[in-house]
Amino acid sequence: MEKRMLTCIGCPLGCSLTAVPTAEGFDISGYTCKRGLEYAKKELTRPERTVTSTVRVSGGKANVVSVRTATDVPKDAIFQVMEAINALVVPAPVKIGDVLCEDIAGTGVALTATKDVAKA
Ligand code: SF4
Repeated sequence: MEKRMLTCIGCPLGCSLTAVPTAEGFDISGYTCKRGLEYAKKELTRPERTVTSTVRVSGGKANVVSVRTATDVPKDAIFQVMEAINALVVPAPVKIGDVLCEDIAGTGVALTATKDVAKA
């Protein structure tokens, strides 16, 4: 395995992290706080992301509502998550925090609204 360079997304500082493979795993350096170390470990073994997008709304004052996954989902499931989001249509009204799907694309993660959409 080769040396990996990562940028921590834990805060706006965006520390540059270096991960050098060792017999036991990786020697990680460049982080300013523990969150950077945890981010690098996760990114190297089981990368995950929060997905944000929009879902179509029927009978609302807006045609779409912004959404996000309640927690991170595995990075390799993002395509399936986006397909499931694109196939979803919800009836108005929608309130911030409404769970629009309990288990998006079989990830076990809920999809929630991040905006209100009133009935038309
Ligand atoms: S390592 Fe800590 S200080 Fe640096 S970007 Fe990550 S969270 Fe921010």
